[in-house]
Amino acid sequence: MFNPVVTTPYLLLRFTYLPATGKPSLDLSFWHHFQESNSALNAEEKRRRLTFYFISYVGGSFMLLFAINDFSSHNWPLLTMLFAGAILAFANAGLSNIYQHKPIFYYIAAVLDSLIVLGLTYSGGHQNTGLYWIFPLILIQVFIVGYKIGIVFVALTVAGMLYLIAHQADIPASYPPEHLSRFFAAFTAFIFTAFIGEYFWQRSHHELTKDNLEKLRQANTDPLTRLPNRRFLDSVYLERAMENPVDYFPLSAVVVDADHFKAINDQFGHDVGDNVLIYLTELMKNNIRQSDLVARTGGEEFLILYPKTSLSTAVKLAENIRQEIANKPFKQGDISLPLSASFGVATALTDTNINAALKLADENLYLAKQRGRNQVV
Ligand code: GH3
Ligand code: MG
Ligand code: MG
Repeated sequence: MFNPVVTTPYLLLRFTYLPATGKPSLDLSFWHHFQESNSALNAEEKRRRLTFYFISYVGGSFMLLFAINDFSSHNWPLLTMLFAGAILAFANAGLSNIYQHKPIFYYIAAVLDSLIVLGLTYSGGHQNTGLYWIFPLILIQVFIVGYKIGIVFVALTVAGMLYLIAHQADIPASYPPEHLSRFFAAFTAFIFTAFIGEYFWQRSHHELTKDNLEKLRQANTDPLTRLPNRRFLDSVYLERAMENPVDYFPLSAVVVDADHFKAINDQFGHDVGDNVLIYLTELMKNNIRQSDLVARTGGEEFLILYPKTSLSTAVKLAENIRQEIANKPFKQGDISLPLSASFGVATALTDTNINAALKLADENLYLAKQRGRNQVV
C-alpha cells in the first residue's frame, strides 16, 4: 500500500541527506511537524477515506435497498449477500471511525468488496445483470488499498470470478456466452486503464508532495547550520505548541548568543566564523533531548526550547551547555579558539505568555552580556 505518511519522510530523508563536507549532520527530528500538517499528504489520505466511507455507507445502503426490493424474488444467495454485505460494510465503517481509520479497516473493506463481486457473479444479481456493478467495485478496491496491493486484490477477485464462471452449471447465475466475452473484453480494458490512471496519479502526487516538502524545508531551515530558523519557530513550532498546550507547557526558552563573535570574524575571517557557528550548533544539539529544539534565530544567536521543563531545570540545562562551550575550545588546523556564550532563560507557564517569556529571555541575555558574558541569567 502506498502510505504517504510513512514513505514520504523516508524519501525526503534520502533526498535531503547530502553529506556535504564540513556541514553538520542533518537532524530531521523537527520534521514531524511538517509531515503532520502537509496538506498534500492529507489530500491522499482524504481521498482514500472518502472512497472508503462512500463505498461503506452509500454502497451498504444500496445493497440494503436492493435486498428489500428483491425480497420477493427468493433468490437466497443474492439476498444473503446483499444483507450481509450491507451490515458488514456499516459495521466496518463504524469501527473504523471509532478506531481512528486504522489501515486494517481499509483491507476489510477491500475484502468485502471482493466478496460482493464474487457474490454478484455467483448469484447473477438482479436478472443476471450483476456484472455491471463489478466495474465500480473494482475501481473502489484499487482506490482504498492503493494500486500496488490493489493488483493482488484484483487478481484474486478476478481469479475467483473466472472460477465461478467456469463452473456455471453449479451456480444460480447463467450468463450467455456472447455477454461473457463482451464483459471480459471491456473489463480487461477497464482494469488496465484503472491501474495506469492510478499509477500516474500516485506518481504525480508523490512528486508534488516531495517538491512541496522540499520547499518547506528550505524556507524553514538555515542553510549554514541546517537548524530550523525563526520562521519555523513562529509558523510551525509555536503554533503547534498553542494547539497542544498539554504537551508543551511549561515551555522554557533559552536564548544563546556567542560572546565577542565579531572579534573571531575579524581575526580569523568569516569562514572560520562560520565553522565556529557549526561547531556551536553541534555542541548544543549533542546536549539536548530529542524533544527539545535548537533553532538559529540570528547571526550568532540561537534559541533552545525545552517543552515541559521548569525554569529551574532550564537554568541547569543552560548552565551545562555554557560549561561545555567554555571547556571545549574550537579547533581548526593550528587554531585553538576558546569560546564562550551568554544565556538568557525564561519560562512560559501557559500558551498566553509565550511572547512575554521570549521577551524576558532576551532581556536576561542582555543582562548576562552586561554582567560580563559567559553566564546564564
Ligand atoms: P557580544 O559578545 O556582545 O554578543 O559581541 P558579538 O561580537 O558577538 O556581537 P555583535 O552583535 O557585535 O556581532 C555579531 C557578529 O556576528 C557580527 C556578524 O558579522 C557576525 N555574524 C552574523 N552572522 C554570521 C554568519 O553567518 N557567519 C559569520 N562568520 N559571522 C556572522
Ligand atoms: Mg554575540
Ligand atoms: Mg548577537
